[in-house]
Amino acid sequence: TIRGYESSARHQLLYRCLGTSTKDTVVRATLFPGDGIGPEIASSVKQVFKAAEVPIEWEEHSIGTSVDPQTNSFVTFDSMESVRKNGIGLKGPMTTPIGKGFRSLNLTLRKSLGLYANVRPCLSIPGYKTPYDNVDLVTIRENTEGEYSGLEHQVVKGVVESLKIITRHASLRVADYAFQYARSNGRKRVSAIHKANIMKKTDGLFLQCCREVAEKHPDIVYEEVIIDNCCMMLVKNPSLFDVLVMPNLYGDIISDLCAGLIGGLGLTPSCNIGDNGLALAEAVHGTAPDIAGKNKANPTALLLSSVMMLRHLGMVEKADRIQKAILKTIEEGKYLTGDLGGKASTTEYTMAVCEHL
Ligand code: NAD
Repeated sequence: TIRGYESSARHQLLYRCLGTSTKDTVVRATLFPGDGIGPEIASSVKQVFKAAEVPIEWEEHSIGTSVDPQTNSFVTFDSMESVRKNGIGLKGPMTTPIGKGFRSLNLTLRKSLGLYANVRPCLSIPGYKTPYDNVDLVTIRENTEGEYSGLEHQVVKGVVESLKIITRHASLRVADYAFQYARSNGRKRVSAIHKANIMKKTDGLFLQCCREVAEKHPDIVYEEVIIDNCCMMLVKNPSLFDVLVMPNLYGDIISDLCAGLIGGLGLTPSCNIGDNGLALAEAVHGTAPDIAGKNKANPTALLLSSVMMLRHLGMVEKADRIQKAILKTIEEGKYLTGDLGGKASTTEYTMAVCEHL
């Protein structure tokens, strides 16, 4: 069962990245509220942190408003320096124009800051009814290359080309992170997800790197699953998987599928990991333009991302407290937001979480 004590112990492990620090002193952290529902859910995190007396001082940066001449991008030099200096941050979602316009701010941040692994835990929420009550998965997504390298051009009129880049360096790095994550979180199995039957060179190299890393971890079960079959298996029986590691695009898609298994995008957190302990936590979801500005967004995903951030910093007691308050609020079911079938506003849900602290 995932209910009761074991479940909460599992949650505690799950939302812990591979942090090293254990201090509980005041820490400066960068905050990107983002756009769409971003500012509303970021405000929820600030309120909950205040109520829980979390010793974090936010350094807030709005990006995406104008091009910074120093970076020649909508991501400002100051905002990137802030993450580099603080080593830790929380990010709301940011809009990316579809089929035209500027390069994704998310990709720019991940690439420029060297955030090479994106950890996306997905765990059934006790008391919130979905077809499965035993979902307990972690998607680890390569975060800097693959189809998201942004190398696209028109060859001739009516023909376009997009380059998928896979490097040995990035594949080894993310595979290594996945096995280390499995080890330090008591997980038993790592599945490499691929399409190497068709993408023989690119996904073939990714798999080769996963195999090399797997050989160094003989006590952790290693398997390879083709992505289409993986989707079917996840929907039919999610308990077949534990930690999943995969190239960038596949990770983006599979983690949304996993979110659907536990109740939707309002519930799934993530953390981007870089070198030297650098971490930028963010929800899996986007800006939700259909509900933006209406006080309807579910802030759980960003709140759980902030819990991942606290665990990364070693602020375990604060992380536990906030996490328990979130789970209690959802289990009680009185103040659920619309995406979970309730009528509560973002503000009401946030107040309920604060009351459960
Ligand atoms: P989305 O995740 O914004 O929304 C998909 C659906 O889920 C919508 O119906 C939305 O209302 C719902 N939803 C998402 N988060 C929710 C929450 N917290 N509470 C309640 N409901 C929630 O995906 P989309 O509509 O495909 O993308 C919108 C924009 O977000 C695009 O510009 C896209 O590029 C961007 N995006 C950004 C990020 C990021 O910043 N990391 C991630 C994904 C998409």
